[in-house]
Amino acid sequence: MPGLEDLYREIILDHYRNPRNRGELDVPPAVRVEGFNPLCGDEIVLYVQLDADGTVDDIRIGGQGCSISQSSASMMSAAVKGRTVDEIERLTRAFKSMMSIHESSLEGAEHDVDDEVDPVDVKLGDLEALRGVVKFPVRIKCATLAWNTLSQAIDEASGD
Ligand code: ZN
Repeated sequence: MPGLEDLYREIILDHYRNPRNRGELDVPPAVRVEGFNPLCGDEIVLYVQLDADGTVDDIRIGGQGCSISQSSASMMSAAVKGRTVDEIERLTRAFKSMMSIHESSLEGAEHDVDDEVDPVDVKLGDLEALRGVVKFPVRIKCATLAWNTLSQAIDEASGD
């Protein structure tokens, strides 16, 4: 029986080698947003298309970088496709809280600590595989790059 860490490593490598939702979308109707993590040199080019109800109709990812950044982007894309903006916001906060980033310490945060996500409410699935990254603080930005880029893309797509 492989240990949990081996399983997590396998999931990360699988997403790195076989990235989900790789490619581009037409802009418009999609929005295109680039994210960059200068600490590691990771780049993510994100295409997001929302439908009229605020659901992610389609998402595509380009870019390059370390295995953590690229596998995190692949997992993120699989996790948010078909979800509403509200669900994605909860998922983003659950993911960041797993990465030990607390919303109250984020720049421009509008929610206070009382508004915390109910952890039972949100299933992280494969994203749990990135839990180990928290032990390597310098890599946390690699793991969160895709999510920060997604928040930017959703803001743009919703016309905020
Ligand atoms: Zn990286």
